[in-house]
Amino acid sequence: MKKHNFSAGPSILPREVFEKAAQAVLDFNGSGLSILEISHRSKDFVAVMEEARTLALELLGLTGKGYQALFLSGGASMEFVRVPYNLMTHLGKAAYLDTGTWAAGAIKEAKNFGETVIAASSKADNYTYIPKEYTIPADAGYFHCTSNNTIFGTQMHEFPETGVPVVCDMSSDIFSRALDFSKFSLIYAGAQKNMGPAGTTLIVVKEDILGKTGRVIPAILDYRQHIEKESMYNTPSVFAVYTSYLTLQWLKENGGIAEIEKRNTAKAELLYSEIDRNPLFTGTARAEDRSKMNATFLLEDESHTEKFDKLWKAAGISGLNGHRSVGGYRASMYNAMPLESVQVLVEVMKELEQSV
Ligand SMILES: *Cc1c(COP(=O)(O)O)cnc(C)c1O
Repeated sequence: MKKHNFSAGPSILPREVFEKAAQAVLDFNGSGLSILEISHRSKDFVAVMEEARTLALELLGLTGKGYQALFLSGGASMEFVRVPYNLMTHLGKAAYLDTGTWAAGAIKEAKNFGETVIAASSKADNYTYIPKEYTIPADAGYFHCTSNNTIFGTQMHEFPETGVPVVCDMSSDIFSRALDFSKFSLIYAGAQKNMGPAGTTLIVVKEDILGKTGRVIPAILDYRQHIEKESMYNTPSVFAVYTSYLTLQWLKENGGIAEIEKRNTAKAELLYSEIDRNPLFTGTARAEDRSKMNATFLLEDESHTEKFDKLWKAAGISGLNGHRSVGGYRASMYNAMPLESVQVLVEVMKELEQSV
């Protein structure tokens, strides 16, 4: 039986996407060949890459606005390095918002390239909130933030107004909600949270911010090289790109970001209202900063742990354990998760309440 998959990543994808991807592994587009054995330069795959890049920009409302979309390898962690390499001038500086483990990972890499200003940090409170009052130095090359903190269950609901280019790691909430994406100069997202399988990262970059650092950038790390080669500088993750493309098509057919945001809001409201109502549970993130993608919560009384774990596992739920740095539980409710799965979880939480 198919589980209710609350995994934080790699994570749930739409059933139709799994079916089409599985079919392509056996026979891609009726070619008599598997997607796993064709050249990335074959006509059919070149078309996939082209359409995936076009569709990503279209869904984000960025068509014709000077942006390029790339599907590269190395995970979001690779962009922690590519971003300063491509955007931080020699002897220059950049500003970072420290809102979680991944933000801290990006900061660590940036420090190898130049002065890295921490505009604000919520680390002292184990990243339970998003800092709001801070200034971004006007002479920073860029400002980097993380829109959704996958591990801590917080999400930025506002982004700072600044004259400095804004770079955002949207790995765990890309395509989940409507934003004015043209306010960002560079967006990146590892596919495996909300878009596809592990192995590819979507990068959306405003072309005019590139080429200004005065650095010599190794080709594999240079966004301009990847743009020029249309995301085929080297062999892309063919299967991951194809599956991501299927997810983007699914999203478009289902009404795009505006429609999926409504569903995501309904799922999050259902779960958070139960966390707040049920005396056995407590949320770990500050209410105003709660994430609609990853809800983190604890049992007030840990002695109920065994019972609760038995109940949710028996209900066919998977992937509910919290990250080791937060403990407790984390329910990841990405785009592909149906409301019914959240209803099952809420029922289990009620069942626990009645049984103790
Ligand atoms: C998972 C995650 C990452 C790391 O992604 P990799 O693809 O494993 O490098 C970075 N940032 C955020 C917000 C994430 O959720």
